[in-house]
Amino acid sequence: MTSRKIFLTEDEMPRQWYNILADIKMNPPLGPDGNPVGPDSLAPVFPMNLIEQEVSTERWITIPDEVLDILTTWRPSPLVRARNLEKALGTPAKIYYKNESVSPAGSHKPNTAVAQAYYNKEFGIKKLTTETGAGQWGSALSYACSQFGLECKIFMVRISFDQKPYRKSMMGAWGGNCIPSPSDQTRAGRDALAKDPNTPGSLGIAISEAIECAVTDESGETRYALGSVLNHVMLHQTIIGLEARKQFEKVGDYPDVIIGCAGGGSNFAGIAFPFVYDKIHGKDIEIYPVEPMGCPTMTKAPFVYDHGDTAKYTPLLAMHSLGHAFVPPPFHAGGLRYHGMAPTVSQLVCEGIVTPRAVSQLSTFEAGVLFARSEGIIPAPESNHAIACVIEEANKAKEEGKEKVILFNLSGHGLLDLAGYDRFFAGELSNILMNDDDLKASEAVFADYPKPAILKHD
Ligand SMILES: *Cc1c(COP(=O)(O)O)cnc(C)c1O
Repeated sequence: MTSRKIFLTEDEMPRQWYNILADIKMNPPLGPDGNPVGPDSLAPVFPMNLIEQEVSTERWITIPDEVLDILTTWRPSPLVRARNLEKALGTPAKIYYKNESVSPAGSHKPNTAVAQAYYNKEFGIKKLTTETGAGQWGSALSYACSQFGLECKIFMVRISFDQKPYRKSMMGAWGGNCIPSPSDQTRAGRDALAKDPNTPGSLGIAISEAIECAVTDESGETRYALGSVLNHVMLHQTIIGLEARKQFEKVGDYPDVIIGCAGGGSNFAGIAFPFVYDKIHGKDIEIYPVEPMGCPTMTKAPFVYDHGDTAKYTPLLAMHSLGHAFVPPPFHAGGLRYHGMAPTVSQLVCEGIVTPRAVSQLSTFEAGVLFARSEGIIPAPESNHAIACVIEEANKAKEEGKEKVILFNLSGHGLLDLAGYDRFFAGELSNILMNDDDLKASEAVFADYPKPAILKHD
């Protein structure tokens, strides 16, 4: 019998991250004047060592020993064969998942939080500000800051602040200071409240608040940290896929299909980019980022230049975007409520190297419940999007009678998202869709912006 879990030893952990910028071409971020922004203009927001990573085109970047040391608290994470799920589906497909729920915060997010806290500390920074949607990133960064003795202030999207009280408790346990966004502490927050005092908030608004809070701190010892979207965040997450590749080698297997849910794109990038490298170099793999139908960034929105935040503090990024003013409907996968998509993931979508999919809210909870009852782990509502797609693929393999190998990323557990499960069981959830009129209205904001070039890798 083949083993259910495939482990690496700490000695076998990858020692370098994979930087996809070595293998694809990208439209540069643009400043207010329409010209590419230089690294210096980002200096009030991020420490220079992370800015250098953001623009680096080196294929392999060494993971500092101090970062590896803390990652070994829970890494390498197991690669698990979901045999019970296979049985429940009666599929000939082999389903594997990378279990990223084993980290202290319960998701993949500490992989980059630890690295970012380390580089800020190295640069002499004392305090980090950030935003959080479902609370996953805020808790991951609070944890990471506690490891390096940094202060942490978190602007949490109002609807999640109300729906997920225990995430606040986690941030507090690690010493983080969490407040609901929009708040009255920043100009961006006050503007949003003036427009709509009952707004559920959005990641776009919370990002604006966190950036403003960092750049207006006169001590110069505060910087901002982002949990997804940017190149250096994708880079830090590639440890997931690099480990998975080694684990597959150990059992002499290799995936035909790779699936990850995508909000800003980081856990998807983490599991997929090392395999994108293989695909660019000739491997035949299908790669699916999965998003909610209620926030259909890749499947419905165009590839444009747009801001990453509502108050337009960030440079223009070339990405799929629903418009920086878009406030996604209050569905339960808070981590997927973002108007944009990582520029790297967007570029891969444009080139057809990865193929986006969208799933409905009810199908994601059905998938999560089937996973919990077969595999045991109760997944995060975000991860359920990946699982819904896995089930579609496993059923397709059954119809076709093919023994496909499917790999997905279990980006986190759902033990702090049980209110969403309760509402599902009570029949209170529905499928949230976006119609074409809403889509057009939300996209009006970038009509006058420059358009990105259509680029192709060599
Ligand atoms: C934040 C989060 C996501 C979405 O963010 P990405 O950057 O797209 O990965 C997905 N799953 C979990 C568990 C999360 O916490």
